[in-house]
Amino acid sequence: MIEKKGHYIAGREVEASDGKTMRVINPATDEVLAEVAQGTAVDMDTAVKAAYAQLTQGAWQRLSGEDRGRLLYKLAELVERDTGRIADLDAACIGRPRQEPRLLDLPNAVSTLRNCAGWADKIEGRTIPTPGYMGTPTLSYTSREPVGVVGAILPWNTPFMITVWKLAPLLAAGCTVVLKPSEEAPLSALHLARLCQEAGFPGGVVNVVTGLGEVVGHELCVHPLVDKISFTGSPEVGRIIQGSAGSLFKHVALELGGKSPQIVFEDADLERAVQGCALGIFFNSGQVCAAGSRILVHHSLLNDFAQRLAEIAGSIKVGDPTADDVQMGSLASRTQQERVNHYISQGIKEGAQLLSGGIDESMRGCFVKPTVFVGDNGMNIAQEEIFGPVATVIGFKDEAEAIRIANDTRYGLAATIWTSSLSRAHRLARDVKAGAIAVNCWAPIDARLPWGGMKSSGLGRECGLAGVLAYTEEKVVTVLMDEAD
Ligand code: NAD
Repeated sequence: MIEKKGHYIAGREVEASDGKTMRVINPATDEVLAEVAQGTAVDMDTAVKAAYAQLTQGAWQRLSGEDRGRLLYKLAELVERDTGRIADLDAACIGRPRQEPRLLDLPNAVSTLRNCAGWADKIEGRTIPTPGYMGTPTLSYTSREPVGVVGAILPWNTPFMITVWKLAPLLAAGCTVVLKPSEEAPLSALHLARLCQEAGFPGGVVNVVTGLGEVVGHELCVHPLVDKISFTGSPEVGRIIQGSAGSLFKHVALELGGKSPQIVFEDADLERAVQGCALGIFFNSGQVCAAGSRILVHHSLLNDFAQRLAEIAGSIKVGDPTADDVQMGSLASRTQQERVNHYISQGIKEGAQLLSGGIDESMRGCFVKPTVFVGDNGMNIAQEEIFGPVATVIGFKDEAEAIRIANDTRYGLAATIWTSSLSRAHRLARDVKAGAIAVNCWAPIDARLPWGGMKSSGLGRECGLAGVLAYTEEKVVTVLMDEAD
């Protein structure tokens, strides 16, 4: 018997208005995990109106920041309680080893909820001295108000963590939300909505509508009562959303893709660097926005480094993601597997040297082996976001060339620098154009640190104080201070 799950609107589970459902499938086993509502424009309209009602007339708009913080602390406790269950839901939807979300996504989500809970009563304005207005003194001050109803459109790669990256700060700021999870991995967002109810958030503050991006996602972007769209996903869909929501002058935040460099200098601790680079490209089967998919290595080390990386790739145990000793599961879907295999054959056609992995369709399920190429930065495999476990190792002759190659991409999300020189690390941190630079470690995300991209990697920042302020609007009030009446 397949479990059925409806949308979550105004604190209740509801079916799609036309009764249609869609299947959620485990890509490692082809098992059907659940049937969820396949939403319609009518469902989205109902959800947005529920969010708007809470924002404008509900108990939510009367809560103080301290009370919102208290609810977020409670939600953090409940997520911590359900860590295993949530991690298993996410892992099953995308064929990922169960230990990975337990290790990273869930602790990060709990930490983000607590961090934002702490900000909820610290959203402050300023008083700004001015010379006065036409000779009369004035008092000017600012306040920060919730931006309004938020539409959060989510990807499948780290579904729960990214949902919380949007949910926690927007609730801290006093907004309400309709979450639109990805078609592949909607289950943890539905569970989160239930936890919000259990924590005591009034019904309608957090709503979830499942369904197709072009239908319910689009409706969310153009709905007149939605004030902000916060999107994480591909640059292609980001561009569509910038057109649909942006042209209606809604606030739009975009967390998009990457082709992040990991730059290895000759003075680096090489074993640490090669292990770090392997983690940076093979974690979550490379389906990570910050995946370090271009590995730039000083010419003097190139061959040895690439061989060692290929050895590590070959030793990674790929298979049933529920087995304890498996380090890499399947990709998230058949489409994703076809996309990655397409890039691997393109790399071979472009003349890149294949050192390990490659196309192997012998396993049932959507598996791709960790793959290492040696190539150059002009190749498609070095320019396009593959979003799979495929590394391209590229040589450079000196620091200037490393910086030039690192920046020779349309993306600018993250970069890792492997070096023992402090000055070089700071020079590279200054000169590489990316939203997050890591020195001698890969993608150290943290609830307190802002996250987001430059260039085609996105607009805006999530997490930390910047993430909370992104869900507020600044208002200025000026009062004329006449002499005594
Ligand atoms: P995707 O763009 O295919 O889908 C993302 C979401 O957009 C889904 O919920 C989908 O249903 C919805 N959508 C699709 N068409 C839409 C439309 N016309 N209008 C409104 N919504 C629509 O992305 P994905 O495959 O789920 O995720 C992978 C991508 O996400 C990669 O490019 C990756 O780099 C990026 N990503 C970025 C970050 C970051 O923080 N920068 C984090 C995770 C993933």
